[in-house]
Amino acid sequence: MSIFFNRRSFLRTCGRSAILGCASIIAGILLTRRQIHAPCEKQSCSGCISYRKCKHTRKVSNETFVWQINPNKCVQCGQCATHCVLNLSAVKCVHSYSMCGYCKLCFGYFQPGANALNEGAENQVCPTGAIKRKFIEDPYFEYHIEEELCNGCGKCVKGCNTFGNGSLHLQVSHDLCVNCNECSIAKACPTNAFVRVPADKPYMFKHELA
Ligand code: SF4
Ligand code: SF4
Ligand code: SF4
Repeated sequence: MSIFFNRRSFLRTCGRSAILGCASIIAGILLTRRQIHAPCEKQSCSGCISYRKCKHTRKVSNETFVWQINPNKCVQCGQCATHCVLNLSAVKCVHSYSMCGYCKLCFGYFQPGANALNEGAENQVCPTGAIKRKFIEDPYFEYHIEEELCNGCGKCVKGCNTFGNGSLHLQVSHDLCVNCNECSIAKACPTNAFVRVPADKPYMFKHELA
């Protein structure tokens, strides 16, 4: 009798363990699928071809849908800088390096009619000094956005779109965005450029849309 009970309780314990094991595997898979990652911080990053493969990405939350900007609809109205609930907007300028001409005279970087093509603050479009440029070889320069200085004003994006090839564009950084149910920028956006996208594809980089 006691052998029967021992065997029965042993089988019951095994069954429970198997169910718990399966449940945690399924939960693990679901959570992995919903993980959102922030863009790579590497200066040479071309906007991330694969978040899951890149060792520089950072997991930031577990959501199903998140807010993002369709760069083909954004007209750089300036409201991304002023309407976010965060003190410094979660919207940042990002750079599709594969589309960039590495121009010496970058209109995302220099004011139209700049006195000199150097790093003087008075020559730059960016009001916060968030764009850094690095000499590559004559006449090419690489432009890099320092996310912590960018307020999402879109001035550089407008310059790049008006006179250049549009490699600079705005994106919601999922490292920072708290994913408000009703995004106050989305409500103010004049072109419905703010959209909900699946959390496992949380960015709309221009080079991926082209
Ligand atoms: S509010 Fe809309 S149109 Fe204006 S900068 Fe933001 S995404 Fe672009
Ligand atoms: S969802 Fe909230 S935190 Fe994110 S961009 Fe919109 S207002 Fe800012
Ligand atoms: S000009 Fe505006 S959007 Fe562009 S990097 Fe500077 S702060 Fe960011």
